[in-house]
Amino acid sequence: MAVVGAGPAGFFTAEALLRSEAPLFDVDVFERLPTPFGLVRSGVAPDHQKIKAVTKTFERTAAHHRFRFLGNVEVGRDLSAEELGTHYDQVVYAIGSSTDRRLGIPGEELGGCHAATAFVGWYNAHPDFRDFPIDLGAERAVVVGAGNVAMDIARVLVKAPEQLAKTDIARHAVEALSLSRVREVVLLARRGPAQAAFDPRELADIAALPGVSVSLDLAAVEADAADPSGLDPRQIKNLELMLDLARRPSAPGERRLRLEFNASPIALEGNAHVERVRVERNTAVREPDGRVVARGSGETFDLPAGLVFRSIGYQGEPLVGVPFDSKAGVIPNLDGRVTSGGAVLAGTYAVGWIRRGPLGVIGTNKADAQRVVERMLEDANALPAREPGAVSHAAIDALLARRGVSVTTYADWLHLDLVEINTGRASGKLREKFASVEAMMNELLARRAAE
Ligand code: NAP
Repeated sequence: MAVVGAGPAGFFTAEALLRSEAPLFDVDVFERLPTPFGLVRSGVAPDHQKIKAVTKTFERTAAHHRFRFLGNVEVGRDLSAEELGTHYDQVVYAIGSSTDRRLGIPGEELGGCHAATAFVGWYNAHPDFRDFPIDLGAERAVVVGAGNVAMDIARVLVKAPEQLAKTDIARHAVEALSLSRVREVVLLARRGPAQAAFDPRELADIAALPGVSVSLDLAAVEADAADPSGLDPRQIKNLELMLDLARRPSAPGERRLRLEFNASPIALEGNAHVERVRVERNTAVREPDGRVVARGSGETFDLPAGLVFRSIGYQGEPLVGVPFDSKAGVIPNLDGRVTSGGAVLAGTYAVGWIRRGPLGVIGTNKADAQRVVERMLEDANALPAREPGAVSHAAIDALLARRGVSVTTYADWLHLDLVEINTGRASGKLREKFASVEAMMNELLARRAAE
């Protein structure tokens, strides 16, 4: 079996396959980067180390004798989807949602307007974002969206850099954050407090930061809290917390988070660089199906800001040779079985965010993987017979070697892991991540030369 993508969905899939009592499968996990763990490594915020503890489970999976990690191999560049189909009995795509959704408003291309995904990748030392051109010289930053990613960004911007310095945050990020002039982060939520997508714990974390004050419109929260019918426990907890925060006497903090509900950016303005955000007030309207939607009221105001992050959700990207639903940003599938024009493509599966869209926490992928693996196992009984040797490690390894691909193994990752931990320890940090693929590969070359 081939799993494409070594993030949580990929690892949970490998785990479920290896645990199955069905025929003995070998599981090869391909990953574009030399390192495993996807968003656990490069998405989870550096001050949320507990969430990263899930890698212990992944390590156990990787230790299985029928598991292989093939890092630094990009499917679509080093290997085609078609070749994977030839060399494996089943292929499951766990490639996540690697880009961001755009606002689609005038001025989005101005300097200083960034994707949340890029900022997150940058502070987490993802090699793609090492040279992300971020300037933290503005006093006010605007974050559009009210999800947990928006909260992560807001927290990283208002938190005292000393509090991040000992984590595994990228060195370049902590250096830039130490010089940051950002004093206020305004989070623009298009709907009301009851519809905020973040978890109460995330807001509580920010409110508990020393030197940070949180402000929000008490009237808006009271209006939503007045009728909690139809709200789920998370929403009710959010409202209770927001009421408490809005009623607290405002203690002017060194840095502030301001939550602006029922507000949408309609244009970014400035001369080459964003200088202000034109915001429209929304009215919350309940649709016949019960959904609350934001409707523009026509009333606008300007918010001076030199930094804007769009944090309105991740977006899947197509992979050459694999069907893609560009509207939904996912690989079309029926319960994990990939479809093309409505028909199931034998032996091809999708799991995780690229299957169901960019929603849910890391653990959500465990149940998702289990479900997709059940379908894979059902289908495995009817696998077509293959030429002897067609499905073998040797064949795929030879193909990659012919193409000059420097594949990294799990043992290579364990070495890089150790180097990162030791380098971090030397400067009082949990870990100092390699911030470029070149640096990782040089380290591995040096190790091989020394052996
Ligand atoms: P998300 O939870 O889907 O939130 C997206 C936010 O963007 C929502 O507030 C949404 O508002 C808003 N939005 C969408 N389109 C918009 C538009 N055109 N204009 C203005 N606002 C717009 O996405 P996310 O924050 O990227 O997080 C992705 C997933 O990862 C979530 O399931 C999240 O819980 C998870 N995550 C978890 C953690 C954690 O557990 N600590 C950390 C990070 C991420 P509407 O509701 O009105 O659509």
